[in-house]
Amino acid sequence: MSGDSDNDDPRGELRALAGRFRANLALRERSGLAGVPTGSSRRRGPAVVQARDAVAALAVAGGSAAARADAATVAVFTRDDQPASVPPTGLAGLQLAREELGDCQRCKLAKGRTNLVFGVGNPEAHLVFVGEGPGADEDAQGEPFVGKAGQLLNKMIEAMGYQRQDVYICNVVKCRPPGNRNPELDEIEACEPFLKKQLAALRPRVIVTLGKFAAQCLLRDDTPISRLRGNFRTYEGVQLMPTFHPAYLLRDPSKKKETWEDLKAVMGALRRLGLGPGGGTEPAGAP
Ligand code: URA
Repeated sequence: MSGDSDNDDPRGELRALAGRFRANLALRERSGLAGVPTGSSRRRGPAVVQARDAVAALAVAGGSAAARADAATVAVFTRDDQPASVPPTGLAGLQLAREELGDCQRCKLAKGRTNLVFGVGNPEAHLVFVGEGPGADEDAQGEPFVGKAGQLLNKMIEAMGYQRQDVYICNVVKCRPPGNRNPELDEIEACEPFLKKQLAALRPRVIVTLGKFAAQCLLRDDTPISRLRGNFRTYEGVQLMPTFHPAYLLRDPSKKKETWEDLKAVMGALRRLGLGPGGGTEPAGAP
């Protein structure tokens, strides 16, 4: 006689309700279903905690069990900033983006690649570097920034007080343009949705774009990189610092000084967010 149980035994009904609620949340938590963030609770109010709060509130609240159940449901599913339909974030979000990309044949770069170069690093990184596209070394190894430019990028990251594995590194286009030519518009357009999915999954606090293609692509701004660099912009609510590409720094080392200024500004922004790296002191000749 469920319709009567409110009046008959409100405490029993409340206990049963809370039990079902906990069991449901535990199931969602285990299955990694959207609505219960996986691996991201350090940055967002986790739904599970909010739900437990709601259950606790339910236990002390007045009114009918039905009304309290409604209140708890509302609390869980509207206080949570990740409603059930929002895609997963962190590792799960990156995996989903990678699965969607699949054996990509969306543009003409596909037929020349050895490996699709998706991205590498910490799926919970606060700091993401976005380059242009894989070169020969990256194409051969399937990992971004592993050649000479990558070695310089590693130094830049370390000069900031991080290790390569602390941050996330990816490119605008995921396949090597032949002869290391610039990526073409149709190639960027085909690949950009996946960069956006990566960034949406990562939810970094700061993005550093390396070179003109990444900055111009994410900012929808064709201002030359020499004028874009050094000034924070915003991409989807995230601070974005355009700076020079490490390959350019290898060709013109005099630009390292400006690049280091840009990276110091990034370190300052992260520190202000309470997320500063451990080190970050300029080594001799950095980066
Ligand atoms: N240059 C890039 O832009 N990306 C890489 O991964 C390597 C070199």
